[in-house]
Amino acid sequence: MGARPKYRIPQGWVARGWRFEIETSTPAQRRLVAQHFGARRFAYNWALAHIKANLDAREADSSVPPLAWDLPSLRRAWNQAKDEVAPWWRCCSKEAYASGIADLVTGLNNWSASQHGRRAGRRVGFPRFKARQRDPGRVRFTTGAMRLEPDRRHLTLPVIGRLRSKENTRRLERLLAKGQARVLSMTLGEQGGRLFVSVAAVVAQSPRRPSEPHTRCGIDLGIGSEWTVVAHADDTIERIIHPAPWTAVQLQRRRVARRLSRRVVGSRGHRQARAKLAALDRRAANLRRESIHTLTTRLARRYGTIVVEDLDIAAMGKAMGRRAFRRSVYRAGIGRIRPILAYKASWAGGQLVVADRWLASSKTHHGCGGYLADLSLGQRMWVCPGCGGLVDRNANAALNLRDWTGPVADRDVQRGGVAAPVPFVGNHDGQARIAVRAREAP
Ligand SMILES: [Zn+2]
Repeated sequence: MGARPKYRIPQGWVARGWRFEIETSTPAQRRLVAQHFGARRFAYNWALAHIKANLDAREADSSVPPLAWDLPSLRRAWNQAKDEVAPWWRCCSKEAYASGIADLVTGLNNWSASQHGRRAGRRVGFPRFKARQRDPGRVRFTTGAMRLEPDRRHLTLPVIGRLRSKENTRRLERLLAKGQARVLSMTLGEQGGRLFVSVAAVVAQSPRRPSEPHTRCGIDLGIGSEWTVVAHADDTIERIIHPAPWTAVQLQRRRVARRLSRRVVGSRGHRQARAKLAALDRRAANLRRESIHTLTTRLARRYGTIVVEDLDIAAMGKAMGRRAFRRSVYRAGIGRIRPILAYKASWAGGQLVVADRWLASSKTHHGCGGYLADLSLGQRMWVCPGCGGLVDRNANAALNLRDWTGPVADRDVQRGGVAAPVPFVGNHDGQARIAVRAREAP
């Protein structure tokens, strides 16, 4: 119950997103942006308190009727209460309040779905109140005067007005002007002290076909310098390493991190070093993102079928531990490849296949079936117990993924032919390691 009405994408159209970094033109406008962030948070917290009060009352007295959690009812309740609880509400767009309430409804639905086992992934807790320090500024507009300006340099949002975009908006503006795209929503958000507008739109798209619709490729994702290995249809193995500028940023980062550790916390030097570090991290993430997009576009346009492994990214993220840097890089990294490939493959007319988690792609010799149970993560080559050949770990895994045809049967697992899932656990230097939990043969 209470789900946001789902927008149905018209036939022949696809949903796409664009993100532009923007800047405000006056201090007054900057304040207005902050007010909108605050207004969204206020409405969110108000609605949460409203629901909690009802839950508490029901606990004390079961005859109290339950409160409806859907968006229309909560918005109605807000509209009745706003003059009293927020007499200043007119200073912000009504979309700011609607955005906060909609986010709470989503949170409640996720919690409820998680409670009833209808949601995959980590358990979702009951929504918590948002504090200014913890809540990244955000507000979504779905109606009102929002548009991209024809000069391709500005965006306009309701009440907030014209904002300058730091990059040219031509790619989207062109489609809008020709009637080949329609804006669904614009979300203004803050990240690392910068402001962004994310535009969600639907775009008309004619059906496409990849250049090799009947062939397959396999992708093995790693955490070393060789972060992706692709097994192509023609048996060539492509190894993708970090671009040179990325490596340079890492070296620079090490130097700055050392400088930061020598500065007194709270001093000007400390602040400067921290800002520098954040800038380097941002650059590393951007470089990584770019290489991911180049790779995924190339593969999606070529292959009819792309096979990736089923990695548990949440567990890997946890294994990264406190090293916030690695976490941010990996968030921009392996976890992004699969979702990006999924939509790019479907745009290009191909399909993405996620191999079964039970497939021991690294430990089974491709084409021979020899199986090495105790393979450690650091081991890049291994000797096949079946045929005695030397096996290149990543290339072999990519080939296995490429030729994967169906789910692994329990029988195979029990025979010891394949391994149980390989969860990632961390050690103290923050590097992820694969803990091998092969199942014993009966
Ligand atoms: Zn072999």
